[in-house]
Amino acid sequence: MSLNLGATRASKLATAARTGKYAPPADLRFLKKPFAGNTAEKMAVRSDILSFLQGLYDSVAETLPDIRDDTEPDDGSVQDEYASALNAAQPNHELESEVKPMTKQSKPRKKKKSVVIQRTHQEVRYLPPGTLKEYWHQMNMMREPPLKKIAFSYFWRVWYEEFCHMKFRRQSNHSVCNVCLRHKMLLQELSGHLNARKGQLEKYTEHLRAQYEDRLAYWSLRGESRLRGKQQISLIIDSMDQAKFCLPRGRVMKSKDLSTMNRPRCHLTAIIIHGYATLVYLSDHDQPKNSSTMIELTSHALTVLEKECKVELAQVRLNIQADNTVREMKNNPYLKWMSSLVSSGRLMECSLHNLRSGHSHEDVDQFFGSLALYMVKHGRNCETSDDLLQVVQAFLDQVPRPYEKFRRASKVDAVRDWCLGQ
Ligand SMILES: [Zn+2]
Repeated sequence: MSLNLGATRASKLATAARTGKYAPPADLRFLKKPFAGNTAEKMAVRSDILSFLQGLYDSVAETLPDIRDDTEPDDGSVQDEYASALNAAQPNHELESEVKPMTKQSKPRKKKKSVVIQRTHQEVRYLPPGTLKEYWHQMNMMREPPLKKIAFSYFWRVWYEEFCHMKFRRQSNHSVCNVCLRHKMLLQELSGHLNARKGQLEKYTEHLRAQYEDRLAYWSLRGESRLRGKQQISLIIDSMDQAKFCLPRGRVMKSKDLSTMNRPRCHLTAIIIHGYATLVYLSDHDQPKNSSTMIELTSHALTVLEKECKVELAQVRLNIQADNTVREMKNNPYLKWMSSLVSSGRLMECSLHNLRSGHSHEDVDQFFGSLALYMVKHGRNCETSDDLLQVVQAFLDQVPRPYEKFRRASKVDAVRDWCLGQ
């Protein structure tokens, strides 16, 4: 009788029967191996990579959907193939090439593993322009001698499987942090000097931690404002990339005859008063874009806060979050205006916060990304700034911002000169 047994297994069973055992010996081939040796080591490496990536996701990556309009020139930036695989809209599940049919001369066929992407519901965040290899080098540098270096293929595989929602920003007009760039270049140069490289890496990590702490300060103020205690109110103010608002917009502008036409660009500035209102201001190309304009817009936002949201401004501690442009808010007239509000008793306190340059992309930039996406779909044909305003208002009416119920898009026709003290 044939039992389809191998010789070894058959002899083990026969020995057990002869010696009078009442049960067959366990077949170890079908039992799961315990976590030991290689598997345990692999799990530890995997969790190390995961915690490194989670750290990046939490502290360095920014929410910034980079929508490009077809009116803008392509930057033609080059990225490594791994980063482009991550950035692809439809990730390729079978990245491994197909195994060729085995012929007599070929080597024994290797078992190929396809990468299984684990979908998460976390939001997509973007790292500054760069390559996966840089982060892999960084991670390996952090590993002290008893720990083995991680293979790039494994690092990439873990990233692709579990962190496909963390991508790379394309090279664009968003500024890259000077300090980060300097650290990265020094790390590259110091590749032959272990101690110097380690010291440099510590400095770089310190810089990343510092920028993360800046963000934490903003997030805590934002959270407090969203609770609507009417005491601590935080607003963020920023302007959008003007290339998105060239007028007129339309398919006709793609023609060769009109491609070199100098088109006026509208300015668009948004103020998000966390927990209360989202306000968007559109102005024509000939309007100034200086501190007076920003004072005018912030004053309007405060009026909306008082009149529409029924907030008593004299009891409010206001935090203004702005970017680093000296032309707009980080200047004397704006600070003087802020202090005049406090000294005249209109506000209890007022402070200006700026995230460090190159790490300043925040929720307002994500808002601009959604607006740009909406413009691509619904604002293809706009001839005047009033048409644009209608599209922006339609966008505001449907944008999911649960904390800010009041939304309004306004046109700025004139700005008074606040520097004259009127
Ligand atoms: Zn930096």
